[in-house]
Amino acid sequence: MPVYKAPLRDINFCAKELFGTDQIRELPGCEEITDDLFDAVLTEAARFCENELQPINQSGDLEGCHWDNGKVTTPKGFKEAYNKFVEGGWPSLAADPKYGGQGLPDSLQVFTEEMVCAANISFGLYPGLTRGASILLHSHGSDELKDKYLPKMTDGTWGGSMCLTEPHCGTDLGLIRTKAIPQQDGTYKVSGTKIYISSGEHDLTENIIHFVLAKIPDGPKGIKGVSLFLVPKIKVDDAGNLTDENGVSCASIEHKMGIKASATCVMNFEDSEGYLVGELHHGVSNMFVMMNTERLGVGNQGLGVGEAAYQNALAFARDRLQGRSLTGTKYPDKPADPIIVHPDIRRTLLTMKAYNEGNRMLSAWVALQLDKSHRAEDPQVKQDASDLVQLLTPIVKAFFTDCGHEVANHAIQILGGGGYLQDYGVEQFARDARIAQIYEGTNGIQALDFVGRKLPAYTGRYLRQFFHPVLAFIEEHQDSDVLKDYLPLLQKNVARLQQTTSILALKAMGNPDEAGAASVDYLRLFALTVLAYLWAQAVLVATPKKDGEEAAFYQGKLETARFFYTKLLTQTSSLFANIMGGADPLMTINDESFGPF
Ligand SMILES: Cc1cc2nc3c(=O)[nH]c(=O)nc-3n(C[C@H](O)[C@H](O)[C@H](O)COP(=O)(O)OP(=O)(O)OC[C@H]3O[C@@H](n4cnc5c(N)ncnc54)[C@H](O)[C@@H]3O)c2cc1C
Repeated sequence: MPVYKAPLRDINFCAKELFGTDQIRELPGCEEITDDLFDAVLTEAARFCENELQPINQSGDLEGCHWDNGKVTTPKGFKEAYNKFVEGGWPSLAADPKYGGQGLPDSLQVFTEEMVCAANISFGLYPGLTRGASILLHSHGSDELKDKYLPKMTDGTWGGSMCLTEPHCGTDLGLIRTKAIPQQDGTYKVSGTKIYISSGEHDLTENIIHFVLAKIPDGPKGIKGVSLFLVPKIKVDDAGNLTDENGVSCASIEHKMGIKASATCVMNFEDSEGYLVGELHHGVSNMFVMMNTERLGVGNQGLGVGEAAYQNALAFARDRLQGRSLTGTKYPDKPADPIIVHPDIRRTLLTMKAYNEGNRMLSAWVALQLDKSHRAEDPQVKQDASDLVQLLTPIVKAFFTDCGHEVANHAIQILGGGGYLQDYGVEQFARDARIAQIYEGTNGIQALDFVGRKLPAYTGRYLRQFFHPVLAFIEEHQDSDVLKDYLPLLQKNVARLQQTTSILALKAMGNPDEAGAASVDYLRLFALTVLAYLWAQAVLVATPKKDGEEAAFYQGKLETARFFYTKLLTQTSSLFANIMGGADPLMTINDESFGPF
């Protein structure tokens, strides 16, 4: 049985020591978020995830979901866990109090989400989709729709889903064929088939509120003709009571590599009554509100699974006795040394630890900006924070999930043959983590978004939200003894990132394939540089505490920072070289020459 203990100590490091919860308390509506409250919420979340969600993760994977004549049943224990999740008030944590939410900051929500994903990523998808759908409705719905649907979505009584994908259209949403026919009474009749719909049908909630992309007849062609509709599974009367079925049915569920306890559904809509959300033909841009929330959430899936994988690999590495240390026996009382003494096992564990902890710092930083973007009084602070969230969202989505899968694979390797077996549960982490690189826009598409939209946005306004603070940090700490081994490397990497950005922007103007060819490498180069900035800050915090009460924790932090700078940040050299290699080596080969021969 795999193990999982919520990383509360490290979460506290990120939230309190690195950024400081006073930054949260300064925001309107957050004055009451004392450290005690912060601890109480996270401790309770940890307890729930460890005791309720983690124990049904492996069994959920083995059993999967069941489809029977349109009804979907989640695996044993899921419904009970969901009911407890609702009773505990977890769905409403960061939601608007006007609709029954608790109004707590995203800086708290983000850590609970990480824990839920680490304990049981499949379970997390059900409330995760509902939360995204609620945010979408909150941002773009009419007051009437919000009053009717939001309270029960907020408290978890009703679920939500996001219905974009169709059999012939995934990335290219302009190809959508689902139709919405306007009716005299202002409603629409929605008809079409959607595939791969997470939480499209299940037994956890009494109603499911679908957010469906569809086209009205004779609208503009392509993406400009797509609109967004709220389509309830069961209709709701003005008093909020459930009335009739709404022509929404689940034709089947997908059989897939991982997240088997998450129902991935083929959904049919047949003249289903739908209500326009936002303006006509603005469906895709409106949907981006939900997709951005989901992208940060999917990034957390990568981080959460990565943490679970690390903990299991570490426990195994401490326990498994094989061979002797190259420099002489370390545990003479044992028939062999535990494998944690071997350099390559340590390299692998440190890689996992450095990515997880680095990404957790980044996750906390983005959540803080999210809070500022929603709550700050100063419009400039609000705008700057929102710009930084925009910039970093594709990095969180793509880099965290790439790391999540990489880290899960490392766990398999550390467990040797055991890693490949079901018994230890780590192969499940790799299978579960894999989808996060694909849905919510594949990581390739995230990289294109990063290079094509985020970099040029407002002539580099988003970019400046990263470059300004990092350059100021370098300037401020030029003479720092604590950072003497780190600052020159950070400075070199930031300069190289600036240089790469300028070269890429110029090249891409002449040939868009240059941007496409460089995009994945560029996103990773950027992500590693962001992590270098955060690890340098971690060194500043940890150094004065390294010989104190929690020496092991802080010394571990410093050693991990050193490992990151000397063994992981070095990737930026090859990424830079790849980017400079340009598009030609990819584009000059004829399609026919790919073979097979
Ligand atoms: C388990 C699971 C759950 C899902 N949940 C949902 C859900 O809840 N709601 C929903 O609507 N969808 C959902 N999806 C669908 C998911 O979002 C899509 O699978 C994903 O966006 C990719 O679309 P696609 O599969 O059609 O691949 P395609 O769009 O066909 O892409 C195939 C490959 O080509 C690349 N590619 C495509 N276009 C371009 C381009 N212009 N430039 C460069 N490369 C390109 C892609 O990156 C990918 O590698 C889910 C999928 C799965 C497997």
